[in-house]
Amino acid sequence: MALKRWVLTVLLAGLLWCLYGCGKAAVSPAGSADSGSAGQTVDSGSAAGAAEDTGELIDPPLEEEASDTSEQAQPLAGIVICLDPGHGVTDATGQERVSPLSQETKAAYVSGAAGNSQTEEELNLAVAQLVRAGLEERGAQVVMTRQTNEATVSNIERAQIANNAGADLCIRIHADGSEDSSVSGMSMQVPAGSLLGTPEIEQPSARVAEIILEEVTAATGARSRGLVQRSDLTGFNWSEVPCVLLEMGFLSNAQEDALLATDEYRQQIASGIVSGVCRWMESGR
Ligand SMILES: [Zn+2]
Repeated sequence: MALKRWVLTVLLAGLLWCLYGCGKAAVSPAGSADSGSAGQTVDSGSAAGAAEDTGELIDPPLEEEASDTSEQAQPLAGIVICLDPGHGVTDATGQERVSPLSQETKAAYVSGAAGNSQTEEELNLAVAQLVRAGLEERGAQVVMTRQTNEATVSNIERAQIANNAGADLCIRIHADGSEDSSVSGMSMQVPAGSLLGTPEIEQPSARVAEIILEEVTAATGARSRGLVQRSDLTGFNWSEVPCVLLEMGFLSNAQEDALLATDEYRQQIASGIVSGVCRWMESGR
C-alpha cells in the first residue's frame, strides 16, 4: 500500500513538473516567433511588449538581437551573383551563334572601348573586383567570368558561367564609346526580343536593372540614360538567369574618362551596384 502511494506521488509530481516545464517551453518559442516577425516589420512596440510580458524571457530577445544584427550585416546571404567584366585581351578570333534559337553568328571576342586614361577591359575588371568585395561582405557568393585582363572568354561562355553557377543574377560591367565626344552618362542594357533562349528573364532583368541604375546614378551623380532593350546581344540571348549590362560612362568623353580612372569614382560605382542589389533583395527580388 505504501509503495502504491509512493508511486502515485511520484507520478503526480512528474505530471506537475511536465505541465510546468512544457508550459514554460511553449511560451519561449511563441515569444521568439512574435519578436522575429516584429523585427522584420520594424515594430519595436511588439518586441518591447513581449519582453514586458515574460520577465524570464531575457535570454531569447538577446539571441534575436544578435541574429537580427547578422542579418543586417549579411543581407545577401544565400544568393549567387555572377559578375561579368566585359571584354579581355586575347588573340582569339571566331564566331559564335547569337542565340540558341538562331543559326546567325557574331564575333565571339570583341575588344572594348578605350579612353586616354584607361582601356575598357581594365576598368571593367577593376570595378567588378570592388563590387565583388562589397557583395561578399554582405554574404553573397560571387562568381566571376574573368579575373585577369588577359582572358579568352566568349560571350556564350560568359552566359554559361552564370547559368552553370545557378546565379540569381548576372551583372555585366562595361563602359561606352561614341564618335561624339560630348555624349556622356550611364545606361543599363536589358535582354529583350524574340531571340532570348529564356524569355522568362526579360521581366526580372528589367526590374533589377532599373533599381541598380537608380542607385549607381545616385551614388555617382552621373546622368542616367535609362534602360536600353537589346535583342542582339549573345550574352543575353544565352542567359538562363536574370542578366543586366551596366554601361558606366563614355571613355570617349574626356571628363567621364578622367572620372572613371579614379579609385574614388570606381568605388562610388561599385557601392551603387551593391546598394542596388541589396534593394532588389529587400524588395523581394
Ligand atoms: Zn564593352
